[in-house]
Parts: sequence; structure tokens; C-alpha cells
Amino acid sequence: MSELKVYNSLTRTKEVFTPITPGYVGMYVCGPTVYSDVHLGNCRTFISFDIIYRYLKYLGYKVRYVRNITDAGHLEGDRDEGDDKFSKKARLEQLEPMEIVQKYTLGFHKVMELFNNLPPTIEPTATGHISEQIEMVKQIIENGYAYVVDGTVYFDVEKYDKEKPYGILTNRKLEDLLEGTRELGGQDEKKGRLDFALWIKAKPEHLMQWPSPWGMGFPGWHIECSAMSGKYLGHQFDIHGGGMDLAATHHTNEIAQSQACYHTSPVNYWLHTNMLTVNGARMSKSAGNGFLPHQLFTGDHPLLEKAYAPMTVRFFMLQTHYRSTLDFSNEALQAAEKGLKRLWEAYDNLNKLTYTGTGDSEIDEELEKRTIELINGFDDSMNDDFNTAKVLANMFELVPVINSLKNGHLPLTSISKQTLELLQHKFKVYLFDIFGLKNEKEGDNSLLEGVLQLLIQIRKEARSKKDFATSDKIRNELQGQGIILKDEKDGTVSWSVN
Ligand code: AMP
Ligand code: ZN
Repeated sequence: MSELKVYNSLTRTKEVFTPITPGYVGMYVCGPTVYSDVHLGNCRTFISFDIIYRYLKYLGYKVRYVRNITDAGHLEGDRDEGDDKFSKKARLEQLEPMEIVQKYTLGFHKVMELFNNLPPTIEPTATGHISEQIEMVKQIIENGYAYVVDGTVYFDVEKYDKEKPYGILTNRKLEDLLEGTRELGGQDEKKGRLDFALWIKAKPEHLMQWPSPWGMGFPGWHIECSAMSGKYLGHQFDIHGGGMDLAATHHTNEIAQSQACYHTSPVNYWLHTNMLTVNGARMSKSAGNGFLPHQLFTGDHPLLEKAYAPMTVRFFMLQTHYRSTLDFSNEALQAAEKGLKRLWEAYDNLNKLTYTGTGDSEIDEELEKRTIELINGFDDSMNDDFNTAKVLANMFELVPVINSLKNGHLPLTSISKQTLELLQHKFKVYLFDIFGLKNEKEGDNSLLEGVLQLLIQIRKEARSKKDFATSDKIRNELQGQGIILKDEKDGTVSWSVN
């Protein structure tokens, strides 16, 4: 088997993955800011890292996977401006800020579960680590890289850059960064345009604030990830991940904070996922083009032609490499739905196959060789920076072979017993353990599916006889049980649980 190679944003090359401690991996992924629901773009990033987590485990690593919850200190503007997102939402919904945090954290967990993402091994919150953040800020001041102005602490970017390149992660020089940032106005208390807040003085009416050596305040957004990754993974750890949009500011500042505090480069491999877009524009909360997962599952959004099951959406994401952009479209989701159905049918067929041959003489050498090549390609593709799209391409090349073995177009003895068993084993491991797919029409739902198909059929027959009383009764009674029937444009009827 080939070695695992990952694309490191820091070096902009694919590197052989070598963890600090053999057999163990420390991985930190920036989690959601829980002042609102996560949209599908956020989910893409969390699904991508779920696959990476699952694959590392498959390779035999013991992974400490830390994904934080941002529940404090995130201002609306990227540059320490605007309202605090939590306080604003709390006022809007007339709730305590911690009620906002609780509500959206629970919602986030529910969505992660629906997508079958494994929980991280540690899920720390910013509010639970205020003292660790204060300690770090104190150390950064002591080391000379931060200054206090009237209860707010700023990181001195220009001073830092004299010793370490501040723009290292996105390969930009300080001059270029300065050029792209607006001049300081007379009101500004910062010394330099790029300086960012480590700790922010709270106005008396601010809802979430804590005592600190600099007075009542709250942490800046970037310091939480440095403090929590340092606490749980050490001052230098293996993998740090997040969406690409975080590299230029949030992660750049994380590197600077850790360097300024501990004099170490905190992360060996920086992994960034690309964006989910809608008509070419990045899906984001502020742009207002963010579908919520439950809108996808119910089809209740003007841009959605129908409802899509969570596994269809997960599969749709797996078909594209995590570092490529992925554009949302109904056509692509419908194609994913069909593709996934074909894959599950092939998987069912594969499981029904039992080897019947007596020797090697019947083996089709060409087919045997190609089948083994395609199966080995699964691990090779994942080892090439987690290329799920290529694994799926191999799987789809194997689908007609599996179906032909099942329906007799190819003799069952065309491939060896060993290869058939390998095929069965690898499909199972990849579909369930690594890709985290669940057969939504199988298992718990198979009985329900059968009964519903029967009711859908009876309703169809009633309608064709213009017996609308019966057809409406079926629809309404099911609705009463929380099951929604939907007449699709192609004449079929789908169902979903409300
Ligand atoms: P947030 O809750 O805004 O802090 O975002 C949580 C995660 O989602 C971060 O890692 C972001 O980089 C990521 N993210 C935000 N928008 C998108 C998008 N359109 N596509 C993929 N990932 C995204
Ligand atoms: Zn972070």
C-alpha cells in the first residue's frame, strides 16, 4: 500500500504524512459559531474532516480529534468591529446568550448526526476556556508581542513580522497585506492596521463578559483556537483544519499567537477544504444563500426542486475532492441520488454472491487483474490526499462487473474466490466505515418502505379510478403520522418524514 500524502497549505505541496508520535494523530478543526444554524457550506467542511478522521482511523491511527464550539467573542466584522454575534442574536430572540448557544449547539449536533458524522473526541467551548485564553494573552504581552489600550489587548503584527513572516500561511508579504487594509482612522486605538484583538474591553451593557487583568471583557475570536488546541493537543500538533476562508485571517492569527506565546510553529499540516458555492458564489450566512440542512431534507426552499435525503447530500459531496469547489445544483443532487441508488443496488448484489468455482481454470485473467487494480485503487486514491472522488470512480467501474456476476452475464467463476471476498470486504469498509454512508432504504426503514410503497400504489390506483376520497384519505392520514407524500415532476411519488 502507498503512503498517505496530504496537501499542506503551509508548504503548498503534497507531503508524506508523518505524525509527531508514531501511531497517534492530533487533529484540530475549527468548529461552528453557534449563534445560528449551520448551513450546507459549513456541513461540507465538517463532512470532509469526518472522512479524513475516519480514514486516519482506518489506517490504524489513534486520533485525538478536537473540534471546538465558538460560543463567545465572535464579532460581526472580521476586524474587531461590529456587534457581538451572540449578544445581538440574544436580544433579537429575547433569550439569554447561553440559551442561544445551547439551542444552536443542539441543532448542530442533530445535523451532524443526520449526516452520520462521528463526534470529535473532544468538543471544547470558548466560554469553558476563558482562563486558558487569558493566560495565553498574558504570556504574549510578556513576550512583547501585544499591547494594552484602555482594557483591550492588541497583537502587534508589524513587530511580530520583523521576526517571523506573518503572512506565511497564505504566502503573502506584510507590505501586500498592509496595502489591502484600510488606513487607521483618528478613532482607532490600534498601533498598526493589521493588529487584531486578543482581548476586548466590554461595554457595561455587553451580555457576555469576564474579569481579566485588563478589566471586564471577552476574548477575541482567534485566541480560543490557539488556547484550546494547545491545551488538548500540545504546543505543536499534527493536523489543523478548517474551510479555506479561515486561512487568511483566523489561521494566520493562530500561527502568530502560538509563535508569540510558545515560540513554536503550532501545526505540522494545515488542511483546508474548499467552498460550497451556489451559482458560483460562496454559500455564507451573510450572503443569505445558505440552505439549511432541514430545508434540503424537506425540499422547502425556492431553489430546491425536491427534498433530498441526508445520505444523498453526503454522497454528492464525496463525488468532489475536498480541495475543489463544489457548486450546488438540483441536477447534481439528482444525479447523486441516482448514483447512490445504483451503488446500493450493486452492493446488495455483491452481498448475494457466493463463490461456486472449483479451481483457477475458469478465471478470466484480464477481469481478475483489472478488478484487483480497481480495488487497490481505493486506498491509493485516499492516500493521495483523501481523493474520495477517485475511489467512487473506481467503484462505479466495478458496478457493472458486480451486476453482471449477479445476473449471470458473467460466470460467477470469472474472478477468484479471494478477489470476490476482497471486493465484498472493501465495498463494505469503504461505504460504511470510511465514507460513513447509511443505506437509508435499508435496515430500520425497509419494513416502512415496503408498507409505504404499497400505500403509494393503492393511492395511485384510486386516483386513476378518480376515487379522490381514498387517495386524499391516504395522503392526509399519513400526514397525520408525520409522513409527507410528494408527487414528483417525473410522475413518481416520494416520501419523507416531517
Ligand atoms: P463558521 O460557523 O462560520 O465559523 O464556519 C464553520 C466552518 O464552515 C468553517 O471551517 C468555515 O471555513 C466553513 N465554511 C463556511 N462557509 C463555507 C462554505 N460555503 N463551504 C465550505 N465550508 C464553509
Ligand atoms: Zn478556529
